Amino acid sequence: MTRPASCASDRTPPAFYDAGQSAAAAWDVWLNMQAGAQHIERLAQQRLERLVATAREHSPFYQRLYRYLPAGPSRIVQLPVVTKRDLMANFDDALTDPELSREMVQEFLTDEHRAGQPLLDRYAVWSSSGTTGEPGIFLHDGHALAVYEALEVVRFRRVQSPLALAAAMMARDRYALVGATGGHFAGNATVERIRLLHPWLAQSVRVFSVLDSTPHLVEQLNEYQPMLLATYPTAASLLANEQRAGRLAIRPREIWTGGEQLSPAQRAYITQAFDCAVHDDYGASEFLAIAWECARGALHFNADWVILEPVDEHHRPVPPGMRSHTVLLTNLANLVQPLIRYDLGDSVTLLEGACGCGSALPAIRVEGRCDDAIVLQDASGGDVTLLPLALATVLEDEAGVFRFQLRQTGARSLALNLDPPATDTQTVQRCRQTLRRFLRTQGLPDVELDIERCALQRHPVSGKLRRVVAMTEAPQPIQRSSLPRASRDKRAH
Ligand SMILES: [Zn+2]
Repeated sequence: MTRPASCASDRTPPAFYDAGQSAAAAWDVWLNMQAGAQHIERLAQQRLERLVATAREHSPFYQRLYRYLPAGPSRIVQLPVVTKRDLMANFDDALTDPELSREMVQEFLTDEHRAGQPLLDRYAVWSSSGTTGEPGIFLHDGHALAVYEALEVVRFRRVQSPLALAAAMMARDRYALVGATGGHFAGNATVERIRLLHPWLAQSVRVFSVLDSTPHLVEQLNEYQPMLLATYPTAASLLANEQRAGRLAIRPREIWTGGEQLSPAQRAYITQAFDCAVHDDYGASEFLAIAWECARGALHFNADWVILEPVDEHHRPVPPGMRSHTVLLTNLANLVQPLIRYDLGDSVTLLEGACGCGSALPAIRVEGRCDDAIVLQDASGGDVTLLPLALATVLEDEAGVFRFQLRQTGARSLALNLDPPATDTQTVQRCRQTLRRFLRTQGLPDVELDIERCALQRHPVSGKLRRVVAMTEAPQPIQRSSLPRASRDKRAH
């Protein structure tokens, strides 16, 4: 099917940044925080109609997908499910702006210096690896970016008025993101975007690499003294170890975690080590600010801007209180690359009953994200913790593999399993070299490394691929707890 010639003139895409657009989004997000459940539902339905109409009119992929559906109001459950594979295989056709093409987007992504800059002056482009083994590329228009920012500021950070926001900005809080530096991952690109749009904030926002050795990371954080620290629970636990040992000496006012599951034990450990509040959130490259944590500790999802449907393996709805196989996400804010009933791959449980905080927004628990931190011994018998995100980043970015399983087989040994269809001798060689190099930078030059090509094992309960697996009898309780996956899709990136 060819793209209708009228596309370009039909719709004016929103500006990449516009102060009025941002203020309107913040007002809308604040207003609907006080709204009742029925109002939220009506609003979400109106936004769904607009999204489906845009997709039908401007995206050849959705035109084909919806060709047998009746015109008129859409009931979400009647719409077909889409996967990341579908979207990536039909990349150009899934977009609603005919000026965009995969070639243009790929070229943009190859230039790391363009992270945070707009493509065609109007779109953010984020890449993700994803634990499903499928890399993804996501485009967001200016309106969607304004909505994500409003959700972050008003709901997650609880800034309740323009005056409070101005005060927070004037305070020049030093903000540290410990995540994947470089590249077009959502977190890094968002920090770069903030720097681009607000140069006066550039010194107040810094990204530190989780690929760094722990001593170097600690040294840099000691020097910077962040007041706000955002990172993954596994990285926050590692930093809590350092703080308790006295090597790290920072006094953050708040720690924000995301991208992985935060267990109650981890939260208590991090809170005690830093003597500050820990706030958790849930986001993805597909929608940056899916859910935020209320004062009662429940993760409320932003049902006015994102629809989440917990479903079983056949995409049938799963009732509240039951853990889902996966979750379907519909992004109501972004029109350039419609995500409608998109299989996000996470297992969630919709919580029953109303939350004590009074919010009408439904609450979820995110389950089944289960990569481990690995603790190896160096030559002197000291423990060195390797974060799952760092290991995954090395294998994805430097060795170019996405489907793998890295298992700890001893105090000084690792085994890497590679999915046979995707590997040749050169890939194996590249994996060996990049992992060796990384282990050397972590002070582990003598770790044994076996690489095999064999079928990957899925998690027996969630069915998900665990990509980084520690030995069950790892030395320290905090690192032993089933630590979550190293999703680089997520907000802390
Ligand atoms: Zn609540």
